Amino acid sequence: MAFDLILRNARIAGTAPDTPLLDVAIQGETIVAVEPDFPGEGKEWGVGGRLLSSGLIETHIHLDKSRIMDRCSAAPDRGTDHMARVAAVKPSFTQEDVYTRAQATVERCVANGATHMRTHAELDPNVGLRGFEALKQLAEDYSWAIDIEICVFAQEGWTNIPETDANIVAALKNGATVVGGAPGYDPDHGGQIRRIFELAREFDVDVDIHLDVGPTIDDMDIHLVCELTEQFGWGGRVAVGHGTKYSCLPPAQLQDLGKRLADTGVAVTVLPATDLFVMGRHQDHNVMRGVADANALLACGVNCSLSTNNVLNPFTPFGDCSLIRIANLYANVAQRGGQEELADCFEMLTNRSAQLLRQDDYGLAAGKPADLVIWDAHSRSEAVATIARPMYGFKRGRHTFTQVMPELHRP
Ligand SMILES: [Zn+2]
Repeated sequence: MAFDLILRNARIAGTAPDTPLLDVAIQGETIVAVEPDFPGEGKEWGVGGRLLSSGLIETHIHLDKSRIMDRCSAAPDRGTDHMARVAAVKPSFTQEDVYTRAQATVERCVANGATHMRTHAELDPNVGLRGFEALKQLAEDYSWAIDIEICVFAQEGWTNIPETDANIVAALKNGATVVGGAPGYDPDHGGQIRRIFELAREFDVDVDIHLDVGPTIDDMDIHLVCELTEQFGWGGRVAVGHGTKYSCLPPAQLQDLGKRLADTGVAVTVLPATDLFVMGRHQDHNVMRGVADANALLACGVNCSLSTNNVLNPFTPFGDCSLIRIANLYANVAQRGGQEELADCFEMLTNRSAQLLRQDDYGLAAGKPADLVIWDAHSRSEAVATIARPMYGFKRGRHTFTQVMPELHRP
């Protein structure tokens, strides 16, 4: 029997350095063998000893408000009104407009190796369900390249706006699989967090909340999130994004928090691009970094991921949709340069992210879907350290992208 595709001589992500190069055989959408010198025949693809990993996972991104810098007002000097500048243009978001911008972003994510994604969709009255509907359509249209799930939330307050609550309930009845929030923008933080957990239980969906963004350790909401996670029995189904306040905790207190998060099953997603751009605006020198130390949390047993969050909007007017660049940015800022630490950063784009999204069917092993990336690197740590190029990608066995490698023209 001929196999559909055999990737020959790959350095499989996560194997020990003395492991021989392995072949990966694919039949249909599925990996059927991972072994040295696979004896089968079929279409062959030489990997040449390069790193082969599972597809990357974007656990936290805002497709709906990506690529809007051209229509937002200029930023005031060291201003903090990112949310207001986005809110001002949200009434201009039509379904078609959101689709077009989100499409451009998702295509770049795919070309940078992402095969799974959780996008947030905001449902404030100034945009209603238009963004959500556009993202639903996009998820369907791009299922050939990436699995997209939608987390619905309110960016601009919730408990004080009845229409917002109605929009979120409508989306949860209509395909949203995760409920999120931004209690920092709600007059009643605790009220919003309680409502999120109520809805999670009512609709049997996971929770992913923007949490604890600020330059001090005052008024942290994570304690209530842990309490409700325990009370509702939602351990393993709850993630929080940002946690810039955790970067302000002295080591012993960070350990206490890490132990609590690990015990309750609350994961943390660090979003270094936005956190670096937004934090420390109150300082005019010695500006704080405000990026939580995910490696330190991993050491406490917490599950963590690293993600892009915003692309080309007032919260982050940058972005190439490259998760490996985000991991490099994080590692540089968090001062995590050891080989194991960098490998952990790669895990926070792959296996750890899969655990956060509860993707049980993820991984580079026989029987798993063939969602794969071939890298211009030989190890996970090298990929992060060099911002290696993802050269080729596959979704369920089908070749989905190629990145053209630079070429020297010698005399
Ligand atoms: Zn976000």
